Amino acid sequence: MGCDLVLLKGNIVTMDRKTERAEAVAIAGERIIATGKNSEIKRLVGRRTKVINLRGRTVVPGMIDAHIHFIDYGLSLKRIDLRDARSIADIQAKVGAVAKATRPGKWITGRSWDQERLKEKRYPNRHDLDKVSPQNPVILNRVCGHIAVANSRALQIANVSKETPDPQGGQIDKDPETGEPAGILRDEAMPLVWNHVPPPTKEELVEAIDAASQKALSAGLTSVHALLRNSAYMEALQQARATGRLGVRVYMGIPVELLDHLIGLGIGTGFGDSWLRVGCVKMLLDGSLGGRTAALKEPYADDPTNKGLLLYQEEEVRQLVSKAHDSGYQLAIHAIGDHAIELALDAIEEAQKKTPRKNHRHRIEHASIISPEQIDRMAEMKVIASVQPAFVTSDFWAKDRVGKRREKWIYPFKTLFKRLVASAGSDCPVEHLDPLEGMWAGVTRAGFLPDERISVEEALQMYTVNAAYASFEENDKGSITEGRLADLIVLSSDPFKVSPEKLRSIKIDRVIVGGKVIKNR
Ligand SMILES: [Zn+2]
Repeated sequence: MGCDLVLLKGNIVTMDRKTERAEAVAIAGERIIATGKNSEIKRLVGRRTKVINLRGRTVVPGMIDAHIHFIDYGLSLKRIDLRDARSIADIQAKVGAVAKATRPGKWITGRSWDQERLKEKRYPNRHDLDKVSPQNPVILNRVCGHIAVANSRALQIANVSKETPDPQGGQIDKDPETGEPAGILRDEAMPLVWNHVPPPTKEELVEAIDAASQKALSAGLTSVHALLRNSAYMEALQQARATGRLGVRVYMGIPVELLDHLIGLGIGTGFGDSWLRVGCVKMLLDGSLGGRTAALKEPYADDPTNKGLLLYQEEEVRQLVSKAHDSGYQLAIHAIGDHAIELALDAIEEAQKKTPRKNHRHRIEHASIISPEQIDRMAEMKVIASVQPAFVTSDFWAKDRVGKRREKWIYPFKTLFKRLVASAGSDCPVEHLDPLEGMWAGVTRAGFLPDERISVEEALQMYTVNAAYASFEENDKGSITEGRLADLIVLSSDPFKVSPEKLRSIKIDRVIVGGKVIKNR
């Protein structure tokens, strides 16, 4: 038997119940063929076997990000990053510098501003941006991706004026005195302007996939559940795959708008191979907590007239969910507020009653504000919670949004983990993509609701075994087990031994995907 790669003298966290820890792994082709003690695995070393001495370092399964806007992230690497802006002036400085270097008329795009982090504690508006970019249209997304601010030139191009009504599921903020658009666009109002930004070319999309792949690999991710925007994204993924620029395995989250096309082609969840697979059908029910557009049953504690936004009518949700369910697809429903979660669960329950499916593995994405009764229902209905641990440390204002009574409903990771299958993801570019940072957030919670802290083991399980289960791939990945794909990462230190605070500073020393040691580019 030819064995291509052997890792020896390691601390191998297999995440496989049978062996738990091993010292060595043997790989042939793209699969793991054995794990065990050094002495056992050494016997498999042949003349052509590459041997890596781990010198006691820790190996874990390649991490899986179960919720990432992978291509958007790749594209965003080319936009103005406003994550570090601490004032309106900071935003103006960055936009102004780009405007000076850009020919008049060309679009300027940016991302990741957060009014909570600005000293003014208010949204930027069109006038702030006009001062530094009078000639170039500008649109800047908030960190959540559910709110954007545009300047006057951009609003003009998009024909957004005093007279423009709010689109369904969206809102154009208007100046209370003049009635003019203030520049802030919420949810479905964002495309009014974004649709005028020239879409990325195919080559730009492939470049974005390449760039995102490199970032993902260096963070220790070997698989991603990538939420796609449109068919151009699917096309670009195939192109990237064909030209060797897809670095990580992708389980595609297809927008529900393409559902009829999928049905028409007879392509179902799971179609594809271990590199590129048709995954879940993604549907967006509400907005974000940060933007107060997540749909709550009771009003926001810090905005008592507001319960957020539902992006669909109830009846539409039921119809879409049952169409996808009846046709055999896995659903991934974005629901942040408890109202959206309720609607998602009602729709799944109804679809399941009509057409029972044992192994649907429908998912709720985020499940951020969730009541104990809803957790019961999810467990009962075997719905997966696809959560983002990093939210709990970023959304430090979440308690203000929902108030004391619902405080315990915010990101109850431990309870979710215990009651049902919970997978972890980043929601990058909303958050950084590093899974170790996500693990740190889940384990420490920055002190918020400490009862809901998860252990290192649980966090790792959410990023490996559970994320693999969430894509029906638990027999292929998620653990270091004979027969599985040889996707594994070597860490600079043992996450089980370092203090929780240090988790996020663990480095990724080596990445192996499909038995190939990845070289840093
Ligand atoms: Zn998302």
